[in-house]
Amino acid sequence: MPPSVVVSGLRKSYGKVEALKGLDLVVNEGEIYGLIGPNGAGKTTTLRIIATLLRPDSGSVEVFGIDVLDRPEEARAVMSYLPEEAGAYRNLSGLEFLKFMASFYARDESELEEMVEEGVRIAALGDRIRDRVKTYSRGMKRRLTLARALMVRPRLAILDEPTSGLDVIHAHHVRRVIREYVEEKGLTVILSSHNMLEVERLCDRVGLLHRGRLLIEGEPSELKAKYNAGDLEEVFVGVAAV
Ligand code: ATP
Repeated sequence: MPPSVVVSGLRKSYGKVEALKGLDLVVNEGEIYGLIGPNGAGKTTTLRIIATLLRPDSGSVEVFGIDVLDRPEEARAVMSYLPEEAGAYRNLSGLEFLKFMASFYARDESELEEMVEEGVRIAALGDRIRDRVKTYSRGMKRRLTLARALMVRPRLAILDEPTSGLDVIHAHHVRRVIREYVEEKGLTVILSSHNMLEVERLCDRVGLLHRGRLLIEGEPSELKAKYNAGDLEEVFVGVAAV
């Protein structure tokens, strides 16, 4: 199968800070790829560039063969991006928010209804879906914004720390939904996370980003065996400390 995402020689500086120093990365179709790395390693910068929200200084990114720098609109049509701090319109109810967002993607009324129904199922907020977003907890907002990202049926979901700050139950729900979408709908996912246990359980492959470069990459079990480590955290700490 051809890869879903091909990142080549990506460089990005913010003033004097070199956030990415020639990053190469490939995400295969139908896999969950986890980007890990210390604070400031360049994870969000990488995800924002793939999502067409930030332009690199040099390098290229292709998503399903579409050059995201040359054809951003076309690329945006096949992917969804969940930012680290995703906001939702505070004065709308969860349901109104999903309807509003679906209206940008659906081609007709029946598709809109299907998307919203799907969004409501993913968010799993019960009756609270009719309450205003401003009354939601952080975890509830995260479920709603994840629902928004997935209900539009992207081929690629770019998820920046999808479970950060969520309690065990909410985080479990989010991971289950992501897995379900990958297995049942052939979604490809690239996500970032600081939770090593999550990455180990959820991701098919993991890349460790450090100071703007990919230091190591592989399946969690492969990496543990290679570095003779009990878990991914040990691999991470061992490699990133050098
Ligand atoms: P974290 O785990 O803390 O979320 P990250 O791996 O996502 O970090 P980035 O947010 O991509 O890292 O940041 C990479 C580097 O670029 C850091 O040194 C950061 O301070 C810098 N940086 C990011 N955004 C900006 C900006 N808008 N202006 C200036 N510097 C920035």
